[in-house]
Amino acid sequence: MNPKNNTIVIIGAGLCGSLLALRMAQRGYTIQLIEKRPDLRKQQQDAGRSINLALSDRGLKGLRLAGVEKAAAKLCIPMYGRMIHDKEGNTFLSKYSGRKDEYINSISRPGLNMLLLDEAEKMPNVEIIFNKGCKSVDLENASATFKDYNTNEEITYKGDIILGTDGAGSSVRKSMFNHKKFLFSFSQEWLTHGYKEITIPAAKDGGYRTDKGALHIWPRGEDMLIALPNLDGSFTVTLFLPYSHSDYCFDNLTTPEMVTEYFEKEYPDAVVLMPNLVEEFFENPTGPLGTIKCSPWSSYGKTALLGDAAHAIVPFYGQGMNASFEDVVVFDTVLDAFEKSSETVDWKKVFEAYEAARKKDTDAIADLAVDNFHEMKEHTASELFQKKRKLETAFEAEFPDEYYSKYSLVTFNEDITYSEALKKGRTQDKAILNLIDDGKLPETMSLKEKLAIVTKVTKDILHDDEVAFG
Ligand SMILES: Cc1cc2nc3c(=O)[nH]c(=O)nc-3n(C[C@H](O)[C@H](O)[C@H](O)COP(=O)(O)OP(=O)(O)OC[C@H]3O[C@@H](n4cnc5c(N)ncnc54)[C@H](O)[C@@H]3O)c2cc1C
Repeated sequence: MNPKNNTIVIIGAGLCGSLLALRMAQRGYTIQLIEKRPDLRKQQQDAGRSINLALSDRGLKGLRLAGVEKAAAKLCIPMYGRMIHDKEGNTFLSKYSGRKDEYINSISRPGLNMLLLDEAEKMPNVEIIFNKGCKSVDLENASATFKDYNTNEEITYKGDIILGTDGAGSSVRKSMFNHKKFLFSFSQEWLTHGYKEITIPAAKDGGYRTDKGALHIWPRGEDMLIALPNLDGSFTVTLFLPYSHSDYCFDNLTTPEMVTEYFEKEYPDAVVLMPNLVEEFFENPTGPLGTIKCSPWSSYGKTALLGDAAHAIVPFYGQGMNASFEDVVVFDTVLDAFEKSSETVDWKKVFEAYEAARKKDTDAIADLAVDNFHEMKEHTASELFQKKRKLETAFEAEFPDEYYSKYSLVTFNEDITYSEALKKGRTQDKAILNLIDDGKLPETMSLKEKLAIVTKVTKDILHDDEVAFG
């Protein structure tokens, strides 16, 4: 049988599912893309749920693969660095890279999702079905039962395979967990912090009330505020705050007075930009932040997980969506090789080869994202960290082909894997922080000499680790 006669049921038409549907349709498969929520192109989505996201090179690579990078670029606002705001309202820009062409983009989640749905819908072999929530999956038979929210009836869809892209709370993954007939490992780790979104509206003339070319951060040790620009002149601000056991936490910010007191004390220059702070604080939901890892990602060669359903991460590297789009690239590459080598596609082998190629990298970005949580809320404000960033930016500007910081390796080097970026980036950080702290990179030393020392110490540590851990 021609594998292209296969029907693929994709559950979840979010960012990953809609890109995956588009790409698999481009490869010739027949796609049913089934989504729990109403069509977001016709109905406004809930307020306060991660309105905009940072899109960077790995995500762009996924969009390019499906031919939609240029269309997505129209929705992007470049952000060149972190604009750090201290308690006195002073600001300084810490660039993401010393190379001019390296920046991240703020993009609207619904805008991007709508674009991907539009593109998928243009394909004659894609059917998109809304308002049907998956309840359970028959893993051995690639069939899934849904609740139809229009009629309240149950309905079953069956494909040759099912791909679960139904996000962090995945029902497909839950079916694997509950199945009990194979060894399914699962871990979920919550941060002690949650998040809440608030808006900086556009200025009266429609312009931006603060610099739109940066991701704004107000680092305060335990808690933090960030803001990303939107095309309409507004910013979406996200507060990251402990749920409990802190002077200020979600559990005790229960009155308008306390919310105002907290923001005026910690973020005075932001308060004046958020006229609806108190109303939004109480209206918008508080979201939890967690890391989900599981394995295997597939069962019986019939069902597989991609995107957050397989590996949800905390948002501090701005990589969850990017990693989910990169999943589509890796899956596509693996499938391509199988299609070329055989008349029929053995999905079991495809799924296993995909997981073998990918899991170490999604584990790596999960760990890097937790590292960055601490870096953003605490270290961005520290003198040692700022010295390191300054030096790294100078290296990247002066020696663009020789030095890539950990951030650049993760964010702008889509041709190296997350696990390689983690290994090299963490080692480089260790080397550079120790050298600065030990006074081994004095002002009198030329930049070239400093780079030579950092490179040598990094290599030595990598070598020692190789000897010790293989
Ligand atoms: C606060 C916050 C900020 C973030 N910032 C960034 C960022 O800056 N950059 C970045 O790259 N990533 C970021 N992320 C991560 C990013 O949002 C996710 O990694 C990305 O959305 C994953 O895409 P997905 O399609 O796998 O899952 P989702 O986008 O969650 O999509 C899942 C889809 O499945 C549907 N669904 C769920 N259950 C069912 C069901 N039972 N039946 C049918 N359909 C179902 C949902 O309605 C949804 O449409 C952020 C996340 C958060 C929480």
